[in-house]
Amino acid sequence: MKAFSYTRATSLEAARKAVNGGGEKFIAGGTNLLDLMKLQVETPSHLIDINHTGLDAIEATAEGGLRIGALVRNSDLAADVRVRDKYELLSRALLSGASAQLRNKATTGGNLLQRTRCYYFYDTTKPCNKRQPGSGCAALGGFNRVHAVLGVSDQCIASHPSDMAVAMRVLDAVVETVKPDGTVRNIPIAELHTLPGETPHVETVLGHGELITAVTLPPPPSGKQIYRKVRDRASYAFAMVSVAAILDVQKGEVASGKMAFGGIGAKPWRDEDAEGKLHGGADSGAFADAVLADAAGHGDNDFKIPLTRRVIHAVIAQATGKDSQHGI
Ligand code: SF4
Repeated sequence: MKAFSYTRATSLEAARKAVNGGGEKFIAGGTNLLDLMKLQVETPSHLIDINHTGLDAIEATAEGGLRIGALVRNSDLAADVRVRDKYELLSRALLSGASAQLRNKATTGGNLLQRTRCYYFYDTTKPCNKRQPGSGCAALGGFNRVHAVLGVSDQCIASHPSDMAVAMRVLDAVVETVKPDGTVRNIPIAELHTLPGETPHVETVLGHGELITAVTLPPPPSGKQIYRKVRDRASYAFAMVSVAAILDVQKGEVASGKMAFGGIGAKPWRDEDAEGKLHGGADSGAFADAVLADAAGHGDNDFKIPLTRRVIHAVIAQATGKDSQHGI
């Protein structure tokens, strides 16, 4: 690990004022950042510890939603009775992520900013445009079983690893940030993460030193909430394909719905145009066709395309009470 200096900020103002050079990183749970620092994938010159800045409340909003402080731990958010009762899919998504120990440390803000689990990103002996721009992409033509099939580029095919972000994407969460100069921004989660394009090392619209302070959920949605995650083993594994769905079921048929996906996209994936296929007696095949129209595998991850289709069928079958014929 490279040497770094350290500041323990005891207020939000102190945290943002500690940003002044360019080599700083905020640290909260550190469940991803510390691993990356040990491997020298991340080499911050200065860590700003934000654990004591008081951003750890879950509060009802005037609109009937919830404002979740950036430091709320994943385990606390999953266990909050309001989340369990009204945002069930978020609680399920959180509990499907990582291990109990990691969920006790990992924070809401950090979860959104966790970095890909592409093997080559963590291996500094291999070319990786995300880690070192312009060096190439070892996953193209390499082993790419966990990689994305949507939103990728010829520079990077990494998938976004978060479960929580997929749930928040379908819930239309809004991410609140503060910049070093004190300017506050509210960013719809759909706009937080960027696609790799020519600049895979840029993963969000956040500027240097811009700190996530909270995530706001709109009032609870009506309809059935489902979070379904397909992975290599039953716990402590990233999604091959995950689905967060909110489905309005009338007389045993889906009348309308929303679905976001994990494991298949370069960012938490949702296709609002495709959701039109879920209106009026959902045609799950037509919806899957629309969602996957631009999907492309790179060999080892080709299976994700038919698997996504099967998970879509299974989720709709679960919502309508019909047995899935697709074995998921
Ligand atoms: Fe790096 Fe992206 Fe290629 Fe993985 S897929 S090696 S993260 S550029």
